[in-house]
Amino acid sequence: MPYVLPRTGELGPPARVTVTPAGVRYHDPALDETSRDDDGALWEVRAGAPTGPPAYTAELHPARQREAMENLLCAGCREPADRGPDGMLWLLPLLGAGPDTRWEGVRTAIPPMCAACAEVAPTVCPVLGDGHVELRVREADLIGVRGTLHPRPGEPGDPDPDALVLHDTPDLRFVVARQAVRELRRVTVVRQQRPVKPRRAPRR
Ligand SMILES: [Zn+2]
Repeated sequence: MPYVLPRTGELGPPARVTVTPAGVRYHDPALDETSRDDDGALWEVRAGAPTGPPAYTAELHPARQREAMENLLCAGCREPADRGPDGMLWLLPLLGAGPDTRWEGVRTAIPPMCAACAEVAPTVCPVLGDGHVELRVREADLIGVRGTLHPRPGEPGDPDPDALVLHDTPDLRFVVARQAVRELRRVTVVRQQRPVKPRRAPRR
């Protein structure tokens, strides 16, 4: 059971928020206090309890993703991620990226991995199994969060459900954060693995 994946039933409706001129906050003051990080961002809180197997979606569990990403723990097992002479081990899905893709400076919400989980992950995770790249990374600063960015009171428009908001920007007060994001620097590409399954049937 990969640590950062939600389990079926776990991601129920998010707690309700109010948007004020000072930023977004929870109706419940106690929840507001416990859900705000040192940078001032409010973190998403979801109702629900795990009832079933892991849900292999693009969405990671907000609290566990944040814990793993902020502390550089393995996405699979919560042990420290693997460190080698070329840096920390990261496995990212290709998501259609070509062989000439530059990975230097890529921004990701996927935490690093330990060596054991990196071997197994592509065989159990369909997103990684559909092609992935293995990286060694020497610098990975926390640069911001992904989440739901709310318009200021009186501004037109709907909330942006998947905004990247950088630290030290005014938008940070108006986002409900769902994932911590790091920017990967001094990157070495170890290998790229194309999809395991052939996309077309071989000719006979
Ligand atoms: Zn692991």
